[in-house]
Amino acid sequence: MYAKVLIEYKVKSLDRTFTYIIPPKLENILQKGMKVTVPFGNGDKTINGFVVDITNEDNFGNLKSIISIEDENLVLNEELLKLGEYVRDTYLCTLISAYQTMLPSSLKIKTITSSYKKYETYLISEMQESFLEDYILNEAKNDMQKEIIQCIIKDKKILKNKFNQSSVKTLIKKGIIKEYKEEVYRINRENQKKDNLLKLNEYQQKAYDEIINNLNKSNTYLLHGITGSGKTEVYMHLIEKVRSEGKTAIMLVPEITLTAQIVNNFYDRFGSDVAILHSALSNGEKYDEYLKILRGDAHIIVGTRSAIFAPSKNLGIIIIDEEHSESYKQDNTPRYNAIDIAKWRSNYNSIPLVLGSATPTYETYARALKGVYNLLTLPKRIGDANLPTVEVVDMSLEMKKRNTVLSDRLKELILEKLAKNEQIILLLNRRGYGTLVTCDNCGNAIKCPNCDITLTYHKTSNNLRCHYCGYNCKKPEKCPECKEGNVRDLGTGTEKLEEELNKLFPSAKVVRMDADTTSKKGSHEKIIRDFKEEKYDILLGTQMISKGLDFPKVSLVGVISADSSLNIPDFRSGERTFSLLSQVSGRAGRSGIESNVVIQTFNPDNFTIMMIKQGTFLKNYQYEMAIRKKLKYPPYYFLVGIKICSKEYEDASKEASKVYNYLKSNLSNEDIILGPTTAGIFKIKSIYRFQIVIKYRFDDNLNNVLKELDEMYIDNKSVYLEIDINPYYI
Ligand SMILES: [Zn+2]
Ligand SMILES: [Zn+2]
Repeated sequence: MYAKVLIEYKVKSLDRTFTYIIPPKLENILQKGMKVTVPFGNGDKTINGFVVDITNEDNFGNLKSIISIEDENLVLNEELLKLGEYVRDTYLCTLISAYQTMLPSSLKIKTITSSYKKYETYLISEMQESFLEDYILNEAKNDMQKEIIQCIIKDKKILKNKFNQSSVKTLIKKGIIKEYKEEVYRINRENQKKDNLLKLNEYQQKAYDEIINNLNKSNTYLLHGITGSGKTEVYMHLIEKVRSEGKTAIMLVPEITLTAQIVNNFYDRFGSDVAILHSALSNGEKYDEYLKILRGDAHIIVGTRSAIFAPSKNLGIIIIDEEHSESYKQDNTPRYNAIDIAKWRSNYNSIPLVLGSATPTYETYARALKGVYNLLTLPKRIGDANLPTVEVVDMSLEMKKRNTVLSDRLKELILEKLAKNEQIILLLNRRGYGTLVTCDNCGNAIKCPNCDITLTYHKTSNNLRCHYCGYNCKKPEKCPECKEGNVRDLGTGTEKLEEELNKLFPSAKVVRMDADTTSKKGSHEKIIRDFKEEKYDILLGTQMISKGLDFPKVSLVGVISADSSLNIPDFRSGERTFSLLSQVSGRAGRSGIESNVVIQTFNPDNFTIMMIKQGTFLKNYQYEMAIRKKLKYPPYYFLVGIKICSKEYEDASKEASKVYNYLKSNLSNEDIILGPTTAGIFKIKSIYRFQIVIKYRFDDNLNNVLKELDEMYIDNKSVYLEIDINPYYI
């Protein structure tokens, strides 16, 4: 027997299979999709690879043998092997990197993965119960021995390390008890499921019915429910139904730490049937959770982006919560979008895909309105909760009153809510103390030496930092440009806001949540838990506070500056601002108390801001869609972003023109090719980046042209390309 093995080698030209002999000792064990070690090249070199086919043909001549199987538990099933080919063809990566992407990161590296297995030592007894009882009465030397035997009589199997070790030893020596090792999972949840599904309201029920009446079709549903409308409850009912038919489910969430509440709801409801997959797990935990799924010990997978590749058998439904989240798009090779992968799996298995959001992307919403997706709406909050009252404050008027950070109205409401012992959330999407450091003599803004971006002052650590590459330096006394002027700090970041709040409301307890205060494992969860337990009155932070949090006592949300996201030069900035502001506003008034939202802006007449005030998703959508149609942006056109990158400015610039000419002469005349321009941030980590954007509607040849282009740069030492199909940012 022979195996075709796809080897783990970075060179693209070697992204093909090599044939190996299957040695007799492996013949009965080896399966398609297993990871193996094989000899490669001359000498003793070995390499890992995936078996993609097993064959009987024997006209291959002189072949080497497979050395060993990496881990018998790890098998990419038929579906995942095929899915890998889809990923390769769609996102222009190698097949091997597609397969590697599907495995948890701890299993990608060349290691003996079985070493991740964790064992626990247990004690049992093969003696009759009457014998043991007799032993306790007549022979046991002390209470500790008696306790061990009593526990074995009661539980049959007990953990060795919980008992007195010398007594254990004595009993083993006498042959009364035996020890044995058993593999265990690191994350263990109660086996017992709780019957705590809530009754659905009429809208939830309607959505649920529609989906379960079509469980064997590959339909995509958009569950468009306003914040607090009870989408999670619908998900749980759907999964309950799918499980009752013996099938499995995958549910994606944007970030596990920020959606801990949802995960806990799932654990409470489905107990040990839940496996979780996300990057904050230890290598051992990832391995365990993956094995649970492969072995069928857990059937409900809750995880972040890469969990869409979970090796679930007999999949019955896929749910993607907060489908508008950019976390579903991977920003390095392969630049896949989990929603596309989910669609592929939904088709392959003929099962429903449910996309849930209060603010779906406009591409998704357009498809739902056109009937490509099925639109299901939850227009009301559950229970008696009402949406908050939204007010917009013009900051140019406040500036005249010297209110640079907080408007009078926001201050007034903060005092009012504090007096009522209610809680407050403030959003400021800029971390650090200020936003910019400039010279008061020449006006120079101090930039990062590695990136084309200004540095931010951090007061706590008293240094200047680059938020892109992590560069930091001490705050200079004098301007590095003119050597004369003093360096001063402008604008407001989360650190300064925190300082300001402590000054203005000295009795309030304030907590800050941003990348600086949450770098330690578990710190996110702690802040969220403490705030929920009302140890703090005010939670301030960057956009990480906008997602999925449910605090019943929050009755005021303040947006310190709506302009920071509005002013980003991207065709999606109106869509994203609406989404961010409605998500954060949605944190207020979830339990029925009267609640307010205050949005501070220098652009009170901006259309998106006005629509936030009215709370009309649809109008903002229609407005933005009219612009996109005119300017030929998605969903009217598809996009491809190509970045031409180099450490040398000249090389990047020269090759960018070459790439442009190549595309111009090979692509259809119907396609629009823009560029080359300097990419959003021109220089990042000392790499210069030029960008070309292709807009197209139908072009069968595009994929081939891009593949050829990509191959032209494989061996280029100075310049590399990043090709992004349907990029999130351009
Ligand atoms: Zn200066
Ligand atoms: Zn930098």
